[in-house]
Amino acid sequence: MRARIALAMLAVLALTAAGCGAGGDESSIVGKDTLVIGVKPDQPGLGVKKREGVYEGFDVDVAKAIAARVAKGATVRFVDAPSAKRESLLESRQVDFIVASYSITPERKTKVAFAGPYYVAHQDILVRRDETGIRNVRDLRGRSLCKVAGSTSWRRVQEERGVPVRLVDGESYSDCIAKLRNGQVDAVSTDDLILAGFAAEQGNAFKIVNARFTDERYGIGIHKSDIEGCEAINKAITALYQDGTIPKLLKKWFDGTGLELTDTVPQFEGCD
Ligand code: GLU
Repeated sequence: MRARIALAMLAVLALTAAGCGAGGDESSIVGKDTLVIGVKPDQPGLGVKKREGVYEGFDVDVAKAIAARVAKGATVRFVDAPSAKRESLLESRQVDFIVASYSITPERKTKVAFAGPYYVAHQDILVRRDETGIRNVRDLRGRSLCKVAGSTSWRRVQEERGVPVRLVDGESYSDCIAKLRNGQVDAVSTDDLILAGFAAEQGNAFKIVNARFTDERYGIGIHKSDIEGCEAINKAITALYQDGTIPKLLKKWFDGTGLELTDTVPQFEGCD
């Protein structure tokens, strides 16, 4: 009898996990056989596409370590997750989760859920080495600043700080770096982790102003309905701090860039 009740309960649990609700839309990433993960293709140190399906960087390594814990043995496939496409990739379930310099914001939280943060970056400013007029965010007044669609960074300057800048569209941060190099913009302002990766790659051409002015809590984006998956990722992040993996990966990718790295476990946001 007891066994039969237990079996019945198991069946209910299995049905719930499979998401018998809205057209199977409630399914979780936990234990999946294949995981599709969105990362950046063009941000040195964080996510770079080497060739079709092969990516490298801190976010890519974090994604692999998390995948190994939430869906052990799963086949992992990486795809591009540009700033402007992240929410829609998750909402349409084209990806299972996203690890792509993705700041947790109240606005994004209305569309997707976030595990983490797994790192707290800070927005800073990158200029050409010979620039002397830009020492902090207020000095961007009247200057040209690269704007990447779907990214929070330009909003932090123009809308949140109220600094009137001349915005010049860039397709991505690598495009912004090209525009900074050839004089089409005076500055690129975004997370220090992103800027440090580019500055290290580009040798002596640029300098980071070193005037951090925000906290960018990097989350792992996941479908809004997958609370189970989000909680499993949070558990994985905790374990990856406890066993030293995340501090080690930060060192692997950013040691020697001059960036001041924090290796304490960030305060989690909670999955809802
Ligand atoms: N962390 C910021 C954001 O999520 C800037 C970097 C990016 O766009 O990937 O918008």
